Amino acid sequence: MNGQKMLIGLKKWYLRNRISMLIFMLITLVLINTPNNFESSVVLENYVKKIERLSKGNIKSKVQINFADLKYPVIGTCYDRAIKYIEIDKAAFDYFTEKKRLLIIAHELGHCACGLDHINGYGTNGCPAHFMHEAAGDYSCIRRNWNRYVKQMKELDC
Ligand SMILES: [Zn+2]
Repeated sequence: MNGQKMLIGLKKWYLRNRISMLIFMLITLVLINTPNNFESSVVLENYVKKIERLSKGNIKSKVQINFADLKYPVIGTCYDRAIKYIEIDKAAFDYFTEKKRLLIIAHELGHCACGLDHINGYGTNGCPAHFMHEAAGDYSCIRRNWNRYVKQMKELDC
């Protein structure tokens, strides 16, 4: 078979199968854009509620949130796809203190619920100046900057 004939054959095959091909592609697209679970984790939903209270109602979210096994050093991700959802690394979350848990959830909500990008930069104390910093500070930073972070949660444009 020469190249010309092969092209014609391919075209005929495409014309015959284009509808099923399109449907197949559509289903594949929807599947890879959909979270694995259809219900949020109750534990994490409670943290979302805590953030809502902490931010005086500024950060609210109906975005699905679940535990997952993420690749180190990622501890949380907001998937901004056809369906938005948040995944939090289970092992890291279990290990974290209450404040660090709240900070991680608030950070991911900043992405998924408020559409914010990272706000990087360090304060004079050497700690991330904003809770939307790409890296969560260590425990000492979180303790020293806690009030500043909570203030940001109440005041950011969400
Ligand atoms: Zn982030």
